[in-house]
Amino acid sequence: MRKFSPDWFRQQFPALHEPNCYLDSAATSLRPQAMIEATQAYYQTGGTVHRSHYSQAKETTERYEACRQQVAALINAADANQIIWTRGSTESINLVADAWLAHQLHPGDEILVSEVEHHANLLPWLMLAEKTGANIVRWPVNAEGELEIEQLALRLTSRTRLVAVTQMSNVTGYVPPMADIIVLAHQAGVAVLVDGAQGIVHQATDVQQWDADFYVFSGHKLYGPTGIGVLYARKDRLDEMRPIQGGGKMISHVDFNGYRLLPAPWCFEPGTPNIAGVIGLASTLDFHQTVDWQAAEAWTLKLADHAAAQLATLPGITLFRAAASPIISFVFRSLHSADLFTLISEHNVALRVGQHCAQPLMQALGVHGTLRASFAAYNTDDDVEKLVKAVTFAYQLLT
Ligand code: PLP
Repeated sequence: MRKFSPDWFRQQFPALHEPNCYLDSAATSLRPQAMIEATQAYYQTGGTVHRSHYSQAKETTERYEACRQQVAALINAADANQIIWTRGSTESINLVADAWLAHQLHPGDEILVSEVEHHANLLPWLMLAEKTGANIVRWPVNAEGELEIEQLALRLTSRTRLVAVTQMSNVTGYVPPMADIIVLAHQAGVAVLVDGAQGIVHQATDVQQWDADFYVFSGHKLYGPTGIGVLYARKDRLDEMRPIQGGGKMISHVDFNGYRLLPAPWCFEPGTPNIAGVIGLASTLDFHQTVDWQAAEAWTLKLADHAAAQLATLPGITLFRAAASPIISFVFRSLHSADLFTLISEHNVALRVGQHCAQPLMQALGVHGTLRASFAAYNTDDDVEKLVKAVTFAYQLLT
């Protein structure tokens, strides 16, 4: 592993070779050259997985399966076969809803969902509740937009079947006290699904230390390809899951009377998978091995701290940012965020505006939407300067 150098790190990302103030990494991160080359190399050679025995196909299958091991190492899963490929966090959460919870849920059962959640960790549960007669129980945030463990304790009942909670808010960067949440839920006999879409990028993650029942993340927020994601399930939970889709390469035998499933994870992955996505993710994870992530994260947070400190001096601004967060959401009193966004965009600063797929949190924070700047390790002091300049310009023009 090399010493972290912001310049070297930035050079790995071709999208940044032109001046590009990219502050939207919480939506999707940019991709390193190594990942782009690995994906291209796969498409140039070809070959499928698990179906053919010529050398290209065998090599592709080996690389594809070895990536499960890389992901297992990344999150400290005990076994690579606890890693199921999906299209992303959204599909992983839906898979838990449909393949694990649906067949055990009864009318009146409860699914406890935090108010911090991205819609990806709310809608699958609302839809499942609609189908089964279960109830969704809201775990509200306090005035600071944080989750209190006492409020969780009050809401865990004999009917609770699952707690769904994020590792990190995509709006404020808030990190819930995951270890305490999981201990408390397990004491009540309740499983926990952790949405790692944001957290995996900024925190070292150990699913065994947490004893998480389910953990999900998306490749594209972790400097990897779009369209590839992960569902990790604890071994006992994996055994309780039932495939919800049928197709090629998920069974060991089938005739007109029935079928015998392959073991997990393959029985949950019917059809030709996103091979290029897995190959690209494997290469991204190789790239990860060369980076000192503690130093990279310290750099990212230093930039976010500088930006927040300067933005905070602008009159009428309210920042929604948790302590040590790479994500800064903000609004200005009496100004519409969309108007500010239009002017900021003219300075070629890439932010996001809106509700960030977190409408319940927006309601709890008392805002219609926010502007959001999200930092990554490829950002620079220059990006901070451009952001502050563009926001100041937009604010001055509108007041
Ligand atoms: N959860 C959180 C916290 C997110 O920020 C996102 C994406 O923004 C998702 C889930 C959904 O991820 P994907 O769209 O990759 O499935």
